[in-house]
Amino acid sequence: MRSRSPASASGIRPPVTLGAVTIAPLSYAPAPESVRPTLRSEYGLFIGGRFVEPKSGASFKTINPATEEALATVADAGEADMARAVDAARKAQPKWAKTKPAERAKILFRIARRIQERSRELAVLESMNGGKPIKESRDEDLPLVAQHFFHHAGWCDKLDYAFAGAKPQPVGVCGQIIPWNFPLLMAAWKLAPALACGNSCVLKPAETTPLTALMLGEILQECGLPDGVVNIVTGGPDAGRALTALAAKGKVDKVAFTGSTEVGKAIAKTLAGSGVKLTLELGGKSPNIVFADAALDQAVEGVVSGIWFNQGHVCCAGSRLFVEEAIHEDFIDRLRNRMRTLRVGDPLDKNTDVGAINSKAQLTTIERYLKAGSDEGAERFEVACDLPKKGFWCRPCIFTGVQPSHTIAREEIFGPVLSVMTFRTPEEAVQRANNTTYGLSAGVWTEKASRALEMSNRLNAGVVWLNTFNRFDASAPFGGYKESGFGREGGRQGLSAYVKLGGGR
Ligand code: NAD
Repeated sequence: MRSRSPASASGIRPPVTLGAVTIAPLSYAPAPESVRPTLRSEYGLFIGGRFVEPKSGASFKTINPATEEALATVADAGEADMARAVDAARKAQPKWAKTKPAERAKILFRIARRIQERSRELAVLESMNGGKPIKESRDEDLPLVAQHFFHHAGWCDKLDYAFAGAKPQPVGVCGQIIPWNFPLLMAAWKLAPALACGNSCVLKPAETTPLTALMLGEILQECGLPDGVVNIVTGGPDAGRALTALAAKGKVDKVAFTGSTEVGKAIAKTLAGSGVKLTLELGGKSPNIVFADAALDQAVEGVVSGIWFNQGHVCCAGSRLFVEEAIHEDFIDRLRNRMRTLRVGDPLDKNTDVGAINSKAQLTTIERYLKAGSDEGAERFEVACDLPKKGFWCRPCIFTGVQPSHTIAREEIFGPVLSVMTFRTPEEAVQRANNTTYGLSAGVWTEKASRALEMSNRLNAGVVWLNTFNRFDASAPFGGYKESGFGREGGRQGLSAYVKLGGGR
């Protein structure tokens, strides 16, 4: 049962006074996760099927953003390390490409099963290293990670049927750079299709969240993936630059990047004219549009999931809410009431809805946007709750009275901050929603099917969710338009980035 009074970080809620009577409200007892992952104190680079010392001699500590405590020391790869990983991938690729498709499928299937078997441990580690609530990493991230390997295991021996009239060939060595918001899921999105198509990979995880990718390295070893087919090279932006530079010199055949639009543009510039295949999954400022005829409580849940899932660290977050003017007041009241029930705090508590911000740097960015929102005249409402003393935290909040020209209506915040605007007609909703440099996702809430279909046709977004939000499936292509990038991940469309089709395709 949910209490309507604000949650505190300790799980203790303040008493409610009704007339002369003071009632101690029902509250949640802490429900701490008991599993703890087996971690090494130091990790080398996963190259050629084993963990090796970095030639750079450099390392960094990776922390838990909810406690600021160090979890492990991780290698910080230099240029020579990246070159070594690319060489290992180059050496391993021809044999992997010639491995019988059914054998490749067996190994991918085994990886999927092992991920399922170790899913609790992986989920806990994802929450410890990234700050997201355990119920999300356990119930959303990990099932999807396994699903991506299962799905692509199924493609291995059916590739000839995926592209009519073409005989798909692997691209070769793939350089894959991923962000920190869904560390293991982004690794799965990149590795599974590449491996299914007979490619080898060099994966560079984000600097704040390297641990689940390294644990995946152990799983790949256990599952008998041939040495060098996947190499996991930890480090910061310099390591990413080293990988892209090797691609520009022709040492890598395909680059897949997920991250910020700014870095995506820099990578596109580096690779322009090189002939290297490139896919970019970048940022977003996605609209969530609520019509007056929508099932409003259901829409409130969709808005909550749209912006507060993973603390708003979601590329396709519904960070711009457009509410039909006639229901604005009623809808915002319902939303505020729902916000009051959100539990902010320990990511490893099974009742937590909103966990820690991924890093101090990201918290500083979010705080800059909060200030800009207030300075430019929007009105802020935030969840009233105590925050833990250590770690990086931001209360979920909404800004009403936002104008399309406001900074918080235009720029990606990547935090738990919702900008609310209104519209009067479907035409105005489309115009306002499309008035952005991005085009990753959109949500439409209406009971009228014809309106839903028309809106989905007219919204410039890679994914349009109708009466739901944040739904993903390995068989459904995901990707953006405009400054949200190009290329798709998932489904048959996602495979095309990892094959050469011949005949100019
Ligand atoms: P980021 O661009 O700063 O970093 C992403 C990765 O690129 C990291 O591994 C980083 O080390 C590396 N990197 C940084 N500078 C580099 C450079 N110059 N050359 C090569 N590599 C470099 O992004 P972030 O802050 O980690 O992630 C947040 C961003 O990712 C948001 O904009 C979000 O919208 C986007 N994102 C998009 C999707 C999608 O599918 N479209 C999914 C998740 C996240």
